[in-house]
Amino acid sequence: SFTARDLDTVMSLADQAGVAIDNVVLHEEAQRLAITDGMTGIWNHRYFQLRFDQEMDRSARFRRPFCLLLCDIDDFKVVNDSYGHLVGDSVLIELARRIRSEVRDIDVLARYGGEEFVLILPETDADGGQRAADKIRKRIGDSPFGRDRQIPVTISVGVACFPRAGTDQTALLRAADVALYDAKAQGKDRVVLYQATEEGRPTHVG
Ligand code: GH3
Ligand code: MG
Ligand code: MG
Repeated sequence: SFTARDLDTVMSLADQAGVAIDNVVLHEEAQRLAITDGMTGIWNHRYFQLRFDQEMDRSARFRRPFCLLLCDIDDFKVVNDSYGHLVGDSVLIELARRIRSEVRDIDVLARYGGEEFVLILPETDADGGQRAADKIRKRIGDSPFGRDRQIPVTISVGVACFPRAGTDQTALLRAADVALYDAKAQGKDRVVLYQATEEGRPTHVG
């Protein structure tokens, strides 16, 4: 049988254990928050950089291809100006959800900046990267956004593939950015693959 003193001891130990468990849960939550984007729930820029590092090392070591996709909403200013920032935010959330639903579990989707999203597609060559990007583009443009509002949204995507478009992070990101810029210049709502051709111009599909 236990004395009142035994009970005190057990209660005191349980309290301390409870605090320790709370601390672990808080620590895990803090770690999760540090690498996810609070609005959309996808990875943030910091975590993207980490995974980009890893994927570049891995692909170089095993001589495997991978693709980097840079997605940017077309005329997003118009959405904000017409419907307000809160609706703009809900479009970003829905967009992240739609992109996530179109890619594989091993693909890394992150919020790159305000209305820009980045994807790492491991084990994917230029052809596969272009097809994945066009599938995403169609999924966004094919049906309007908003619960009762019919908000048309389209995206432009720049695709850059390792190792052809670049063998370090800066070069590959710049290539994806150049391709995205070209997609915008060619009229938006399209996918452009970065290709260092003789004329130095990327080509587009979609
Ligand atoms: P473009 O087709 O050339 O990309 O035109 P755009 O209007 O999408 O591009 P621009 O870069 O000129 O404007 C981006 C807009 O995205 C401006 C900014 O207010 C908005 N934006 C960025 N982050 C957020 C956000 O978190 N929420 C909302 N609602 N809007 C955002
Ligand atoms: Mg932008
Ligand atoms: Mg934009």
